[in-house]
Amino acid sequence: MDTAPLLDVQNVRQAFPRAGGAELLVLEGVNLTLREGEIVGLLGRSGSGKSTLLRLISGLAQPSAGNITYLGKPVDGPAEGIAMVFQSFALFPWLTVLENVQLGLEALGLPTKEIRARALAAIDLIGLDGYESAYPRELSGGMRQRVGFARALVVHPNILLMDEPMSALDVLTAENLRTDFIDLWSEGQLPIKGVILVTHNIEEAVLMCDRILIFSTNPGRVVTEIKVNLPQPRDRNDPDFGALVDRIYVEMTAKRVERMTRHERFAGTGIGTVLPRISINLISGLAEAVFAAPYNGKADLPDLTADLQLEIDELFPVAETLQMLRLAEVEGGDIRLTDLGKRFANADLEERKRLFARLLQTYVPLAAHIRRVLDERASHAAPKSRFLDELEDHMSAEAAEQTLRAVVSWARYGELFAYDDETSMLSLENPA
Ligand code: ADP
Ligand code: MG
Repeated sequence: MDTAPLLDVQNVRQAFPRAGGAELLVLEGVNLTLREGEIVGLLGRSGSGKSTLLRLISGLAQPSAGNITYLGKPVDGPAEGIAMVFQSFALFPWLTVLENVQLGLEALGLPTKEIRARALAAIDLIGLDGYESAYPRELSGGMRQRVGFARALVVHPNILLMDEPMSALDVLTAENLRTDFIDLWSEGQLPIKGVILVTHNIEEAVLMCDRILIFSTNPGRVVTEIKVNLPQPRDRNDPDFGALVDRIYVEMTAKRVERMTRHERFAGTGIGTVLPRISINLISGLAEAVFAAPYNGKADLPDLTADLQLEIDELFPVAETLQMLRLAEVEGGDIRLTDLGKRFANADLEERKRLFARLLQTYVPLAAHIRRVLDERASHAAPKSRFLDELEDHMSAEAAEQTLRAVVSWARYGELFAYDDETSMLSLENPA
């Protein structure tokens, strides 16, 4: 195809200022082209900068560096012809369905009659006929999101941006909406030329997209492009569909691990590392599940996500926490327990706690640091703010709070140190 692209994103970088002067690099070297007739998926974990990229594309924000062109012209403000569907439906509760949809058109300065006619057509198209005068609270989640779609489509945008549009819906409702959307798109009934779909759901991406760009985290960048050469409508039970889903799982795990240096993978991380809020129950649960039959110490991550009824987005951080603690290694779409991991999975509660405390002190520098500070103080206690301040030199206030909460919950379990929610004091449980 040699037509000019609808959209061209070149070498885009986005960084946000952070307290203390350092910056948070969210996107770097992002390239993306959307051509007429395409649905392109952006697949990545939460926090990888997907929503940020959509905001830049729609002109709601400007990138720190790089270029975004829409139909050959730089995007330098909210672009007419680019519309967005959000995860949270963002409807006005005091307006009817018709009024909510018409709102999309009011900025265009069309005659009232045309506004109404176009809104009614969009409502009809998306399957909301008969609900014109209903209020959002009278509708189910799925119907509300249909209003979200109608409001975006009514302007006849060239490009439709969708930011995890199904993730607030239950499984069946989401599937219906996907199917209806793809049917309308395939039949050429949608007044749009191209779509960018952001999702963290691999199957959704494979069901809907012509091309899938896999996004890495920290900073967000496109690490792999995968073409989906399956005819629409697609069937989840088609072996080719399953094979592609598996391949993407592997890409997403392998790429992440490859990108970590050997040092990061095996030597632990610095005090300034953001820690995920992963509960001991999840850590133990995953170790036990991999230890038990049928896995016996080594499991395929896609099988495991299905078995544990988790989303990949939920499983990855748990698997990575096991890896950080040397309980497991993650490679090529597999998770394998280390000898330590097997011991941990097999231990009784007391031994598990002891083992966990040792792993924390060895592999989580922040835990070791806090323990050292508490050991050295005569009072064996320190206010939480003492450590929050320190963390905020390395990360946002929000991330510092999360990291401290994570380390506190792990330390409590391992009885490495205690935390009193009322006084906000950390202290040694059993001072030596
Ligand atoms: P995703 O949509 O992939 O989950 P986001 O684009 O929402 O990711 O966020 C990526 C990162 O950028 C997060 O760490 C988030 O906290 C940060 N971020 C997003 N917008 C801002 C902003 N306006 N100021 C500071 N940080 C931001
Ligand atoms: Mg997002």
